[in-house]
Amino acid sequence: MFRIGKQNDDFVITDKQAMVKLLDTLLEMKKKNKQVLMTSKLLRTLRSYYNEDKRIWRCQALKNFLVVDHLGRIAGCHTHNFAGSVFDLPKKWESKEFNELRNAYQKCTRCGYLCYIFYSVQGGAFGHISLAMDQWKNARLLFK
Ligand code: SF4
Repeated sequence: MFRIGKQNDDFVITDKQAMVKLLDTLLEMKKKNKQVLMTSKLLRTLRSYYNEDKRIWRCQALKNFLVVDHLGRIAGCHTHNFAGSVFDLPKKWESKEFNELRNAYQKCTRCGYLCYIFYSVQGGAFGHISLAMDQWKNARLLFK
């Protein structure tokens, strides 16, 4: 099992309605303030998750993101078993084994980590286009 840390109950978001309120506030702020760097798509996805217990995204582990440990072992995310080493990536990336893992991860509901949700909803061609459309006004921050 990959571990980058253990869950600390002190940091688990338990007040879901407070989270919904925060997300609504951020969505409202985005209308006037371009420096909110979270995309509207991500904020709406999180809102559904906290308000309706609905996962409107499909996890894209091992497709849009993966994790690598200090020994070069890789996994779709830190909660699943490793699937090989970085040296296997060229031959395994398009393999049946990896595609089956991706299908399993798309159905997985074991976590709601913000970074994994972001990479899932804003990865891929459409995700990148919607990210660019959402954040183009902040492009100059990249050059600072
Ligand atoms: S939902 Fe979370 S735990 Fe499940 S595969 Fe995706 S990142 Fe991993």
